Amino acid sequence: MSTIKVSKSKTVATKTAKPLVKGVNNERLSTWNYVAAPESTDHIQLQSQYQLFINGKFVKPSSKKYFDTINPATEQKLAEVAQANAKDIDLAVKSAKNAYDQTWSKMKPTERAKYIFRIARLMQERAREFAVIETMDGGKPIRESRDIDIPLACNHWFYYAGWADKLDYAFPGRKAKSLGVAGQIIPWNFPLLMAAWKIAPALACGNTVVLKPAETTPLTALKLAEIIQESGLPDGVVNIVTGYGDAGAELVNHPLINKIAFTGSTPVGKSIQKAIAGTNKRATLELGGKAAHIIFDDAPIDQAVEGIINGIFFNQGHVCCAGSRLFIQESIASIVIKKLKQRMQTLMVGDPLDKNTDIGAINSKEQLEKINYYVKLGEKEGAEMYQPNCKLPSAGYFFKPTLFLHTSQSHRIMQEEIFGPVLAIQTFRTIEEVIEKANNIPYGLSAGVWTDKGSKIFNLTTKLRAGVVWANTYNKFDPASPFGGYKESGFGREGGIHGLNAYVKF
Ligand code: NAP
Ligand code: MG
Repeated sequence: MSTIKVSKSKTVATKTAKPLVKGVNNERLSTWNYVAAPESTDHIQLQSQYQLFINGKFVKPSSKKYFDTINPATEQKLAEVAQANAKDIDLAVKSAKNAYDQTWSKMKPTERAKYIFRIARLMQERAREFAVIETMDGGKPIRESRDIDIPLACNHWFYYAGWADKLDYAFPGRKAKSLGVAGQIIPWNFPLLMAAWKIAPALACGNTVVLKPAETTPLTALKLAEIIQESGLPDGVVNIVTGYGDAGAELVNHPLINKIAFTGSTPVGKSIQKAIAGTNKRATLELGGKAAHIIFDDAPIDQAVEGIINGIFFNQGHVCCAGSRLFIQESIASIVIKKLKQRMQTLMVGDPLDKNTDIGAINSKEQLEKINYYVKLGEKEGAEMYQPNCKLPSAGYFFKPTLFLHTSQSHRIMQEEIFGPVLAIQTFRTIEEVIEKANNIPYGLSAGVWTDKGSKIFNLTTKLRAGVVWANTYNKFDPASPFGGYKESGFGREGGIHGLNAYVKF
């Protein structure tokens, strides 16, 4: 049983000394300093060394090499993880192929559903453990891993367990057949959730898989492997191989792979597309984004400001659909910017395990360097930067929430994906102008709009070149709802009935 430590100390309110935002009522900005409320880590069991999960067993890598995974909030090592090479990838793919031919493709869909459902239940039972490990390995606030990542991941498994024996209803009048072995490669921003998005629909449609997690966040995928073992899923149906980008490339190039499902950056997505050109391999690519968040003068301003804050600072901006470009209708620009600055002053940046924390640690040193590079570039390009006067922890990788004013369409901070808590702001006058500005980008993953008028929402949703458009809300996900991009944000959809499409042929 896990123990919960209850602090007896009460929340204390103190006024911050310095004036916070010039020209605004600082009395209202007095922040509440909360007593730290860290989630306990007593119940977490991590091994010092993790192996590859191949054919239902944990096996040593043939390279005999291991790499460290660290906690980006403390820079301390959490565990060492096996580094797969070409030989290991070959073994994993062959075990998936064997499981596909001998067991999984022959199994009745109702039986397959039971295994998927069992994995969902086991994951739900260990939700707290998964949430804490996700936060320690990746740096995201515990509030997010606990309330968003893990419940959503469980829901994905439940949702696709439901479809496994109902494919005839998903594709009426057609007989859906599985593809074979899927090679799946995922990034570090939603590690367990991305694993669920990939594995659950693949299994529901009768495929077997080899999954490669990102090198900075392999731990929850390895914990998932433990659950898979416990569920009694036939050996080889799911294989999880940790390693660097070269292991991902080996997976892409393996001749026995029938489908590649990739979520990650646009440059790697492009290299995968080149590598599989001329083969029979199918692909879905979920790539980068630079979402436009649009606020009209008839919007409920306070709610919109909260939505904008959530849209860009949620998960440190490590979100492919982060609302990283903000377009404000000119007549309300000054009030929106003032309120945004006020709200940024009250955001809590720090220990991701603390339940009060809004902005946790940046995932890696490299990512922190990338964000620093873009913020310096923004200033060099002539934009005006604003950051709240919060203090960052002395160890670990942290970055203050940042916004840029006076940007132009040609600024690189307005065009390129930063993948950090950095918001670039522009104003607009007419709906035509904002559509043109929002679409003037190589990406097309998501967008958000805040207005009182339904007609404006419908007008925009038909004209914005983005896979998802949220109206009067942001960053909402559900397993029944499809997700995917336009243009350089990739192709194919994950989630919902559309997500099944990616794993069947007719
Ligand atoms: P990344 O560098 O492209 O890495 C993604 C995955 O691919 C990692 O597992 C990585 O391994 C692996 N990889 C690297 N080089 C490879 C190669 N040549 N061949 C095959 N696999 C390779 O992306 P990231 O930095 O982890 O993630 C951030 C990006 O993901 C952002 O651009 C974000 O927008 C995008 N993203 C998109 C979505 C979506 O749904 N559209 C969702 C989440 C994230 P290593 O970790 O070992 O490098
Ligand atoms: Mg890590």
